[in-house]
Parts: sequence; structure tokens; C-alpha cells
Amino acid sequence: MATSTQPLDASRLSIHLTTTPREVPIPGSKTATGCTDHMIIADWTTEAGWSTPQLVPYGPMEMMPSASVLHYSTSCFEGLKLYRGHDGNLRLFRPEANCARFLRSAQRISLPEFDPEQVQHLIRKLCEIDGPRWLPKIYPGRFLYLRPTMIGTDSSLGFHAPRAARLFIIICCWPTIQSADDTGMRLVVSTEGSVRAWPGGTGASKVGANYGPTVQAHVKATTAGFQQVLWVFGKDDQVTESGSSNLFTIWETTDGRVEIVTCPLENDLVLPGITRQSILALLRERLDVEGSALLGSVKPVTVAERSYTMGEIQAAARENRLLGAFAAGTAYFVTPVSYIDYRGEGIEVPVGKVPYVALLQEWLADIMYGKVESDWAEVVEEPTA
Ligand SMILES: *Cc1c(COP(=O)(O)O)cnc(C)c1O
Repeated sequence: MATSTQPLDASRLSIHLTTTPREVPIPGSKTATGCTDHMIIADWTTEAGWSTPQLVPYGPMEMMPSASVLHYSTSCFEGLKLYRGHDGNLRLFRPEANCARFLRSAQRISLPEFDPEQVQHLIRKLCEIDGPRWLPKIYPGRFLYLRPTMIGTDSSLGFHAPRAARLFIIICCWPTIQSADDTGMRLVVSTEGSVRAWPGGTGASKVGANYGPTVQAHVKATTAGFQQVLWVFGKDDQVTESGSSNLFTIWETTDGRVEIVTCPLENDLVLPGITRQSILALLRERLDVEGSALLGSVKPVTVAERSYTMGEIQAAARENRLLGAFAAGTAYFVTPVSYIDYRGEGIEVPVGKVPYVALLQEWLADIMYGKVESDWAEVVEEPTA
């Protein structure tokens, strides 16, 4: 980027509030759909750099039919939630990690660079404006979903790095979905030859191009009564992730330890989830065999980031060593898995047999909703009414 071009600068944000605010639905209710009243947009071109960011009423955007994103999937995004805490405060969970990942995803598909901290400021500003009304204090424990996105808007149709792009941030109400929290999710292993990601591909980036092609498998799975596809990779069916969540398996090893294992980040086969990273940190800090201060009656665990296969899960189930499994991500939080269909063979996965899933849910929720102090939670200031 030439030095004369403008960097993204959140301090220059210009604010145009809506004159027709929507009626706020009760968060989490059936009518709670769509987005909040405002969004933030910032445009970029190779010549000028970043435009002044604008906070404007939520609404349609114009672009040319020849826009890069519509043809070459030059789009990346983030997903994070704004939580209404039990102490009345609004919080974001590790937003700096989302913003850093957002930049990495943009770089992966040749979209323009930006200072991630500026995006974090913009996110906070949008939350300051829409949060108070859309997440009323009388409903602690609710949340909204933020979707920072960047798209290539270059309309020249030539195959090159976009010379124009738009960054936007919207806040959506979370649809009411059938909760699998108590009963657990039913997963179906991806069909032979079908892959979500591959070494050297884009599986480790949150780019739009990863998602469209997996809708077909997802629809097939949900039609057959499953909640998510469990994506496996390679001839040996390595376990990678499920839907848009990272997957963890809990088992007893053949030498009698409890191990919690998840796919490693090498090879770009899985998205480096912030929930995943947080869970690994919490487990290592609080339950690892080595440092066992907080254990009490809970059996310590070995935490492993390594490749493992469906065959190993099958063997553990057969030998009664399978203790549980769970999916972890911002969208569906920490959700236990109750059943895995592995090419027609059913694997029953125990739910609630060991306390780790419930502990992780509690530890994370306590941070998100402000029951405990943590560096991972960032309070969003609200105007005092
Ligand atoms: C977003 C996402 C995750 C979860 O990441 P978090 O940062 O924990 O929300 C996992 N897998 C895929 C494919 C994703 O898109």
C-alpha cells in the first residue's frame, strides 16, 4: 500500500442515526430476526486507501453486477457475540482475537489490510449505539451476533487482487433454534471423497468460499435428522471439525488417563477457533495433570492437539472408553455430541458422563456474562440513562 493512502481510522467515524428505529423484539424470541438499526461501512480503493468509516442506518448496499465478490468469492468475515451480563454490563469476548483473525482472512484472499485495532474500535462503537436498546438490561444472559465482513467490490471483472473493497459490520438477532444443549447433537460423518478443507487450502481462514460448497452436505445431513456434518479428512478419516465448530473428543486412554483431544492447526484443515483456543487454555490451566490446583473431585485430564481418526473413536466406543465429545464455537457455544453416524454405523456418545463439558460451559459463560473478572471480556460502555 502506498504511504499516501489513508489508513482505516475509527476515530474519524461519522455517525448518521436512523430516524425510523425498528421496534426491538424480545431477544431470543421467534420474532427476533434480522439486524439491528445500524451498521458500519468503510470503503477502500488502491488509490485512496480507506474512506472515513460511517455509521449508518442498516439497509441495502449497492454494487456493480461485475463486483469481484460476486464472481471470485473475495469475501471474508468474523463472528462474535455481544453479551448482556448478569451485572447489567455489555461485553465482548476476546474481540481482539477476532479482529486479528479477520486481518489474516483478508490477507489470504488479497483483500486490503487494516489495523485490527481500528476494526475493534468500530465494533465497540456500533455496540455502544445499538447494544443498549437491542439488549435491554432487563434481559441479562442474552446476546446479539456481530458479523464484521469484507468484500471485493472492484467492478473491472479482471482476475486480480480487488482494487476496491468494502468493510462492513452488522449486528444480527440470533434465531431461535432447537437447543441441543441437554440432549446433545447428532452428527453424520462426511461422505467418502467429500472434503471441507485440504492442506494448503483456505480451511484455516474465515472466507466465504469455504461455506457455500458445504451447504449441500449440510442440507443432506439435516434432512436425514442430523444437526451437523462431522468433516473427516484423508484415507484414514482424520476427525477435523463439525459444521462451523471445532470438535473435541473425551476418552480414556488405554493406559487409564482421561484425554481431551482436538485436531491440530497444522495443515490448515480446521478454522483456528477462539472458543477452541480458550477451551485449550482453560483446560491446561485448570484441569491439566501437571497443574492441578482447582481440581477438587474432578479427575485431571491430558489435553492433546493432534491428529486422530474415526477408527480411534470407534475403538474407544467399542471398549467403553469413549467419555464424550463436544463442538465449540461462537455460534453454538459448547454443545455436547450424543451420536455419530459413521457411514451407517451408529456410535453412541455419552452425554453428561464426565463433568468437563458442563465445567467448560460454566467457566466460559461466567466470563462472557461477567460473573467473574477476566482479561478475555471487554466491557462496552453505555451512556448512562
Ligand atoms: C467460526 C468457525 C469456528 C469457530 O470459531 P470461533 O472463533 O470459536 O467462533 C469453527 N469452525 C469453523 C469452520 C468456523 O467458521
